[in-house]
Amino acid sequence: MELSLQTWPKVEDYLKTKNTIIIPIGSTEQHGPTGLIGTDYITAQKIAIEVGEKTNTMVAPPLCFGMAFHHMDFPGTITLKPSTMMLVLLDMIESCYTHGFKKFMFINGHGGNINPTATAFCEWKTKDTDTTLQLENWWRLPEVQAYEKIHFGDENGFHATCGEVALTMHLEKEAFKTIPKTQFKIERPKYSMPMAPKEFRKTFFDGRMASNPGLATSEHGAKLFEIAVDTISKKVSEL
Ligand SMILES: [Zn+2]
Repeated sequence: MELSLQTWPKVEDYLKTKNTIIIPIGSTEQHGPTGLIGTDYITAQKIAIEVGEKTNTMVAPPLCFGMAFHHMDFPGTITLKPSTMMLVLLDMIESCYTHGFKKFMFINGHGGNINPTATAFCEWKTKDTDTTLQLENWWRLPEVQAYEKIHFGDENGFHATCGEVALTMHLEKEAFKTIPKTQFKIERPKYSMPMAPKEFRKTFFDGRMASNPGLATSEHGAKLFEIAVDTISKKVSEL
C-alpha cells in the first residue's frame, strides 16, 4: 500500500483503523565499481513496499538521500549533512504524526543514516508524544547476516557488500546488463569512521570496503530479499 498511489480520502480511511506507517530511508552514493549509486534507497524501498503488501501497511515514498559525505570524493554521490538529515526526518515524522500516524517503522539501507536517525528519534521523544519509532537496518538483521556468512564468508565486506549488490541484481536486473562481472581482491586497511571524503578515497581507492561483490548473484539477492521481507514483516506486525 504505497502512500504515493493513494488519494487523501483513502489515507483518511486507512487512519480510521490503523496508524502504522513504513518509511524507507536510503542514500544516493557510490557502491564500488560494480554497484549501483541508488543501491541503498532501492533496497530499502523495495523491501518496504513488499513488507507493506504482506502486512497491509501504508508505505511512504523513500528518503533517497542520506548521510554519505564520506563518499563525496566519488562522482554521483549526493549527501545530506548529518544535521540536515536529522531535521528532514523530524519534519517527516511531524507531518505523518499530524495526520494521525503513531507507529513508525523506518526501513534503512545505509549505515551512515543510523546515527542521524537515532538522534532524530531522541529529539522527537523530547516532545513526549505517544509514538513508537523503530529503525530496522535490513543488512544487520541476524537472519540476513547468517545467510551472508554461509554464502560470502568474510568477503561480504562493509560497503558495496556482496549482499547489497546481490539484492540490487535481483531488484534491478536491467541495470546490471551493462556492468561487467568482476572478481575483486580484498584489502583490509586500518581506518576509523567517520572519515573525510579524501581520507575515505585514499583508504578505499575504488569505493569498496573489504568486499568482493564479484560473489553476488541475483539468486542470492532473491533469497536475501525474502529473508529481509519476512523478518521485518513480523516486526511490523508486532509494532
Ligand atoms: Zn550501501
